[in-house]
Amino acid sequence: MGTSYSVVITRLPENSSEQAIREGIESLLEEVNQQMSTYRPDSELSQINQSEARVWLDVSPELFDIIRQAILISQQTNAAFDITVGPLVNLWGFGPAEGLPTGRPTDEAVESARALVGYQHIELDLINRRLRKPFRGLYIDLSAIAKGHGVDVIANYLDTLGIRDYLVEIGGELRGKGISPRGDSWRVAVERPESGQRQVYKVLNVSNIAIATSGDYRNYYEYDGTRYSHTIDPRTGMPVVHALASVTVLSREAAIADAWATALMVLGERAGYELAEEKGLAAYFLYKKGDEFLPLETTAFKRLTHDWE
Ligand code: ADP
Ligand code: MG
Repeated sequence: MGTSYSVVITRLPENSSEQAIREGIESLLEEVNQQMSTYRPDSELSQINQSEARVWLDVSPELFDIIRQAILISQQTNAAFDITVGPLVNLWGFGPAEGLPTGRPTDEAVESARALVGYQHIELDLINRRLRKPFRGLYIDLSAIAKGHGVDVIANYLDTLGIRDYLVEIGGELRGKGISPRGDSWRVAVERPESGQRQVYKVLNVSNIAIATSGDYRNYYEYDGTRYSHTIDPRTGMPVVHALASVTVLSREAAIADAWATALMVLGERAGYELAEEKGLAAYFLYKKGDEFLPLETTAFKRLTHDWE
């Protein structure tokens, strides 16, 4: 997944060792990568991306389920979230290819990449768990949801081991349960969304919840004075530009939180906030006003975090 992970548990279960749990986690993450990474040419997803048009492809249960969940979120966000955005991600230099582009892609290049994008092109056979692409260039990119899914996989594994207290994190997406080694709730910081520094903006006391943050302040590049974010608006084909600097979403499952954080990042602090309220999502927005960052909390976020304080 091109990032690091961490797992904190407070107590080892009986008949288990740190080494055994570590190996269990590593092999599960290896499996997720082998299913969903676009950075591995031989992953199951890469094979789908390279496959011929109009043939039914068998899909593993986990990959099928993540694609299905991603499509549901596309439907609910009017395609602001779209896992077929891959050709645009690659064009703007945020895909698996080495190096960043030396300049802004031409309008023609953006248009021809955009013509390949659209989640409704993915055809799913729910009965036989198969997938079909109408044209060869359809390219699925799960980077906005796979880290969250990896967190869920580890959390479920720790649950089956009977571990009651843990905090699991992959690349900043988290899921916590029970209590921290200090004996009270886990404390998770929302960063001040500024590049080149790591400062705490707000601390969340959390338990039994997943948290994901999307932002434009870590993964971007600048060209000719313009910042190009790795979040792409599939509707325009362009990296998003607005005052929204980061969105944090709380949900039961990390995959859902991860995907919605990216979706709200595309929509921005107005449309995103409105949709989050409408869907009852617990979301925390930080947007830039002048030189300051201002927070915006949905009703569900206030309710959830208030309970913990
Ligand atoms: P962040 O932590 O900022 O949300 P993620 O890694 O979760 O970052 O997601 C960003 C990645 O998702 C991008 O690098 C790209 O591969 C992919 N992506 C970009 N725009 C979209 C979009 N509109 N819908 C789905 N995936 C996207
Ligand atoms: Mg995401």
